[in-house]
Amino acid sequence: MKRSPIRSRSLKSRSAALVQAQAAFNAFIRARDFGLPCISCGEVKELQCGHYRSVRAAPELRFAEENANGQCERCNTNLGGNREGYRRGIIESFGKAYLDCLDGPHEAKNYTVEQLREIRAKYSARAAELIADMAA
Ligand SMILES: [Zn+2]
Repeated sequence: MKRSPIRSRSLKSRSAALVQAQAAFNAFIRARDFGLPCISCGEVKELQCGHYRSVRAAPELRFAEENANGQCERCNTNLGGNREGYRRGIIESFGKAYLDCLDGPHEAKNYTVEQLREIRAKYSARAAELIADMAA
């Protein structure tokens, strides 16, 4: 079956909007947590945005601020998220109830392109604000 060009174009714009929204969210988390130690190992290093429940495993939490923290490259990438360290870090920083809430069920999300564009705009603006505050 041939794909209709219109359907194909709309899928492309949705996946582009998703990538752009995620990039803006991740940049916001890096700005929010700038200067903090890695959530998983406690070392002060350059941080990436690490999702406690991965975007692949829990896409409904991909834009949940409570599910994302500054994490060093080693923990986020080389150690596959360093989940044990991440759990300890969340309990130390936010408490066990917070962790239990993250581990619990969450409503599935099915963002429209319009919602993804709003998410991108919101986090781009919030990251810019944080960066401006740091520079002031
Ligand atoms: Zn780390």
